[in-house]
Amino acid sequence: MRAARLLPDIDDLVIADVPTPVPQRGQVLVEVVGAGVCRSDLHIVDGAFAESVRRPVTAGHEISGVVAATGPAARIDIGTPVAVMVGWGCGTCHWCRHGHEQLCPAGREAGSTADGGFAEYVLVPDARFLIPLGTIPALDATPLGCAALSAYAGVRRVLPWLEAGSSVVIIGAGGLGQFAIHYARRLSDARVIAVDRRPTALDRARIAGAHQVVLDDPDAAHAIGELCGPLGARAVIDFVGSNESLRLSAAIAGPRGIIALLGLAGGSIPIGFTTLAPEATFTTVVAGTISDLTEVVRLGQTDLLDIPRYAYPLDRVNDALADLRAGRIDGRAVICPREQ
Ligand SMILES: [Zn+2]
Ligand SMILES: [Zn+2]
Repeated sequence: MRAARLLPDIDDLVIADVPTPVPQRGQVLVEVVGAGVCRSDLHIVDGAFAESVRRPVTAGHEISGVVAATGPAARIDIGTPVAVMVGWGCGTCHWCRHGHEQLCPAGREAGSTADGGFAEYVLVPDARFLIPLGTIPALDATPLGCAALSAYAGVRRVLPWLEAGSSVVIIGAGGLGQFAIHYARRLSDARVIAVDRRPTALDRARIAGAHQVVLDDPDAAHAIGELCGPLGARAVIDFVGSNESLRLSAAIAGPRGIIALLGLAGGSIPIGFTTLAPEATFTTVVAGTISDLTEVVRLGQTDLLDIPRYAYPLDRVNDALADLRAGRIDGRAVICPREQ
């Protein structure tokens, strides 16, 4: 089968012919229908997380497809359309047993520590990492496995803060941000404020349901403060994670508020008694859980956020990465290995 491989010391992905895996025991072979291109793919290609990323590896972690073959102990039917969970925990450690496989110390992740979805097929270690799609067409489901899942996990994390009359600020209105706006509207009565540097992303934020949008310029903290009122933002979800976005997060989160960081731009801010508002909480959110993805798929049966999709055949995967890098993608770039 053809696969887009991340090789040692090469900056671009390389299309290679590799053996099609044969599922053993409980493993499942999924034919990839769509694999979304995520900003973290750019970080990985650029050499971030070098100590954990395996090379060579097949890239791509946001995957939907159809079960093509199963090992003898796998409990899922061939032909089932599925969303693929991004992280694959061991299933037996403390975190896995408590439903937080994303924190498993022995866990692997498609596209960085295990072969991922920029390929005709992906080998998944167990059927529990596959969520049947029900009525959602497999290609439409592509963003569920990372963008929607991470956004849902972020919104779920801050949900206890989102009482009626409160404000949640979402920094970064790309694919994840648009899903976060959608879930914040669907799961809370909070006022949803979206922030981005790109006017086109703010247009998408409005479509996704943001009550207000703010251009991320030097005046943004002041403008958001005016919108939130004296309590400040009850919750901030930062999908960028740069020094600048974190500084903005710290400036706008109110007393006893929460900042949830999901963006992987690698920025940081000092944490100390006076650097955040009094009694504010700072947390990271890692990917999301299997039960989060199950819930994302369940919510998608009745109301699936429609974000623009830009489809690329497998051999144009580097063009997709370049378009995302250049800011030309206001929704999701999707690799479609079945297309030529
Ligand atoms: Zn991702
Ligand atoms: Zn584990």
